[in-house]
Amino acid sequence: MPSPSSGPNDMASVLIHACCAPCATYTVEHFRKERHELAGYWFNPNIHPLSEHALRLQTLIDFARDVGMPLEMTPDYKIEDYFQAVAGHEGQEARCRYCYLLRLGQAAGFAREKGFDAFTTTLLISPYQKHDVLKQTGEEIQAKVGIRFLYEDLRPGYHESRKMARELNFYRQRYCGCIFSHAERFSFPKK
Ligand code: SF4
Repeated sequence: MPSPSSGPNDMASVLIHACCAPCATYTVEHFRKERHELAGYWFNPNIHPLSEHALRLQTLIDFARDVGMPLEMTPDYKIEDYFQAVAGHEGQEARCRYCYLLRLGQAAGFAREKGFDAFTTTLLISPYQKHDVLKQTGEEIQAKVGIRFLYEDLRPGYHESRKMARELNFYRQRYCGCIFSHAERFSFPKK
């Protein structure tokens, strides 16, 4: 368990929940520069459909191998975990909080069980996420699970992460992940 005075620059073993390889590029490099020892963690039952889930996972596996980062994962694709988590909160504002709670809660529990000092997430780099909700949710989980949430606002590195992903020829998705975000991204404009 980290000391209460530990700050963002104190070296730590960190489990990094990874939403996708493009977001992981810059984020992993950044936290390694801060001398954290990283292991990736894949748990994203929000991603729809299965083929998209498989594509994003495979891209992350390739990335983790290339940068020599251990990758832990929950390989089963249980879309019902996601739907149960957001049921009754499907509106855009509410559902992301429950989605973060599900994914980061699982990562925090795993990190604590395996003896990591902290957990974090690649979602912190995306300007398309609800950043304040994400931060608040991570802090709530920190208090509940008893493991430090390594927080930094990484959004200034977003464009660099896209550049890195392009150069590595990574698959780059065009919607956040859930079926709702897919519909919002690709629906026809309302008349
Ligand atoms: S938009 Fe993204 S963060 Fe929000 S519920 Fe859907 S997959 Fe989760």
